[in-house]
Formats: sequence, C-alpha cells, structure tokens
Amino acid sequence: MAANRDFSTATRIVRSTGRSARSAAADICVVGAGIAGVSAALEAAQLGRTVVLVDSLPALGGQAVHSIIGTFCGLFANGYRGRQITHGIADGILHDLGAQDALHYLRGGPSNTTVVMYDEIALSRWIEETIRKAGIIVLLGAMLRRVMRDGGRVRTIEFATRYGDVTTSAEGFVDATGDAALTWEAGFACRENANGVLYGTQMVVLEGVDEASHPPRPEMIARMKEKGDRYGLIRRDGFSFVVPGRGISLINMNHVETPLEPFAASRNALLGKAMADDVIRFLKAEYPDAFANARVRAYGFPGIRQTRWIKGRQHLTVDDVRAGTRFPDAVARTGWPIELHDRPDSTAWEPFGDDHLHYIPFGALVPDEADNIVAVGRCIDGDSAALSSVRVMGPCIAMGAAAAHALDLAGSGSVRQIDIAALRKRVSSNVDGAG
Ligand SMILES: Cc1cc2nc3c(=O)[nH]c(=O)nc-3n(C[C@H](O)[C@H](O)[C@H](O)COP(=O)(O)OP(=O)(O)OC[C@H]3O[C@@H](n4cnc5c(N)ncnc54)[C@H](O)[C@@H]3O)c2cc1C
Repeated sequence: MAANRDFSTATRIVRSTGRSARSAAADICVVGAGIAGVSAALEAAQLGRTVVLVDSLPALGGQAVHSIIGTFCGLFANGYRGRQITHGIADGILHDLGAQDALHYLRGGPSNTTVVMYDEIALSRWIEETIRKAGIIVLLGAMLRRVMRDGGRVRTIEFATRYGDVTTSAEGFVDATGDAALTWEAGFACRENANGVLYGTQMVVLEGVDEASHPPRPEMIARMKEKGDRYGLIRRDGFSFVVPGRGISLINMNHVETPLEPFAASRNALLGKAMADDVIRFLKAEYPDAFANARVRAYGFPGIRQTRWIKGRQHLTVDDVRAGTRFPDAVARTGWPIELHDRPDSTAWEPFGDDHLHYIPFGALVPDEADNIVAVGRCIDGDSAALSSVRVMGPCIAMGAAAAHALDLAGSGSVRQIDIAALRKRVSSNVDGAG
C-alpha cells in the first residue's frame, strides 16, 4: 500500500571537481550513423571486428531516416530495367523492406535509372534491429569534441553527451559525418566550396493527397516558374513524389543554405520549414483537387547536401564522372546523374545513357596524411559536380563497405599501404561484372 511506502530515499549528490569520462574501445570506430556509416559498421561487424558506432543525433539512420530522403538512388544501373550494382546492406534492406511492402520501384524517368522509394519508419527499424543484433556498441547523442592523434594515426576521440563525456579508442576510424567532422577535428586538410552556395532542402511528407489528380512534374515546374513569385518560392524545379496507393507525397521543393556556422545553421533550419510551408500554400492553391485535403505528416530534419569534405589522396572530377574513368582502386560505382544544387532557383541535371557507369577510387576516401581514417558518404574528395552524383545512397552504401574492408586489411598498419588488389577483390560485387 502506498501509505506504508518509504519515499525518503533520494540522496543528495554534487558533481565532483575531477571530471571522469566513460570510455569504450573497439577495433573500428565509426563516427556518423547515416546510411554510409551504418553500412561501414555492419560490414566491419560481419568481418568479426568489434565496432563502436557514434552519432550526435539520439537515433540511428542520419539523413536517410531523419531528413526523410525517401528514395534510394544510384543502386541500379541505368536504363528501364538496369541491374542492381551495389550489394552488402542494400541486399538486406531491399529484401526485408520489400517483404513488408515498404518499397516502391520507379523505373526510367528523368534519371534514366531505377529509384526505390522506401518507408522511412521501416528503414529506421531495419537499421536499429540489424545494428542491435550485430552486437555493435552504439553511442547516441554524442557530439565529437576532440581528436587525439600521433602523427597520421588517430588514437582517441572525445565526445560530449548529455550523460557526461565519453572517449573512444580504436585501431581504425570511419569519418561518416557528412561534414568531414572527424578529419577536420583531427587537423587534416579539408575542402569547402569555393564558388558560392551548395543548397540543401527541407523535405516534407504530405498525407491525404488525391493521387489521381496529382499533376505531372513538367506541368508543376511550368506553374512554379509562372506563379512561384506569388507564393515566395525561390526554387522553381522541385518535385513531389507520390507513393502509389497511400495518398502520400514526398515534397522536395525548396532550396535553403546549410552553412556550418552554428547560429546561421540553426536559423536556416527554421527558415527551411517556413519555405516548405510556402510550397504547401502553392500546392493547395494551384492544385486543389490533389492537395486541398493534404496535411503535413512530417517535416524532416534539415536536408544537407554538401558542406565540408576531405582533401583526399585523390580528387574525383566531373571529367572522371562523365568519362566513366575506371580507376585501378575503384571501390564503388553508380550511373546516377550529375545533380548540382548550386543555384537558388534550379538544379543542374545531367543524366547518363543506359551503358554509363562511373566509379569512386579508394584514394578519394583517404584523407591526405591520415593512416587510419577512411571517409565515406557525402564527405569524400571530389569537385562539387562529381560529388553531386556520387553522394546518393547507393554509392554511400558501397563506400561504407569498402571502408570496413580497408581498415580490416590495414589492422594496426596504414590504409595508405594496404594491398589494393586484395581490397578490390573483397568489394568486387560493388564494382565488377553484372552486379
Ligand atoms: C534534400 C536531399 C534529398 C536527397 N535525395 C536523395 C534521394 O532521393 N536519393 C538518394 O539516394 N540520395 C539523396 N540525397 C543524398 C543522400 O541523402 C545523402 O547524400 C546521404 O544520405 C548521405 O549519407 P551519409 O551517411 O554520408 O551522411 P548523413 O546521412 O548526413 O549522416 C551523417 C551522420 O553523422 C552525424 N554527425 C555529423 N557530425 C557529427 C559530429 N560532429 N559528431 C557526431 N556525429 C556527427 C550526423 O548526425 C548524421 O547522422 C539527398 C540529399 C538531400 C539533402
């Protein structure tokens, strides 16, 4: 009975003056749990390595889940029925989410390839359960604060969490932060865009959309160009993707700057939502049959395309992408178009033919002078146009797998000295043959 219970059990505590940090040690530490970091962590665990996976968000999945990206691009070769060209965790995701009816395949279209729409909640749970069952040590809500290194070798990283400080030490590190935060904090050279702005987008999911009345994309673009001023629209070539049979539409229709300065980044996170609301006003007023009853189901976190990236041993160029240069150390491939968001009102879009593939060299994943860091995902080395094509999620998955194998091969040695032929053999399903 509550009346008889003793509630006087709280003890008085005061923080001691000496700060003590909790610590974790593993073979491989992956910083960033977006799709590239998740791929690296799972591949490393499968190789028998102990792994710690860290993210500043309080949940796994990065932009793929929390910015509600909504479609896997770059996983398939070009053409209407292009084959799957990236495997690893992509196989598990396509199989398991397909079995839950949580995927929808769109073939051909403006990208001349296959894109796979996914339910972000299903993907989120897939990632959480797969990571949990793989026995990976997870550290969430942990912001990278300081990196300690000896020469080219990172030894320990310090993180701040709401529960206190944490240090992690490892033999090898994966920079999957999207902003090259690990490489930057370690003091290795990075790059930023020299020519203006690379825009991000605030994604929105609408429900209650009348699919039958949804306008075709060219018609919507023409209307945005004609009447966008009335609604304060800046971007005029965005799109709304309908998920068939669900009355749901994924809205990718604004352009917002995503600076690395903390106050400006926070201000723009709010601005992005206000801009998305302008888009919704436009859709409801111009296409009432399709959108009059639509409601916002979710706003994603800010969608960040490109901020800061590593200066690698090799710099992928747009000429390499256009030519499909097949590097001796290639570890990933895609046929995705060049998709450069460097103008406020429009996107430079350059799709490729059915037989085109382009490749990512391992050298673009290794920061200059670093011995035990491999970067993956949207912060590898390349020019802005090249990166605009290879940062989509298909190649992000392949890069994550390659990083795990490279660090596994390097052990306590340097990733700059691994046997590239051995690495190529291990990742051949993502680079060679029919896929
Ligand atoms: C609006 C938009 C639409 C897009 N559309 C598509 C699409 O349709 N299909 C497609 O395939 N791709 C698309 N892309 C590209 C693709 O989504 C991203 O490039 C990809 O998801 C990047 O994955 P990532 O793992 O490299 O990075 P992220 O998903 O950005 O993951 C990085 C993680 O690192 C963590 N992190 C960052 N800094 C720190 C730190 N200092 N300490 C600790 N953790 C940190 C972050 O919290 C985050 O979880 C789109 C991108 C945007 C922005």
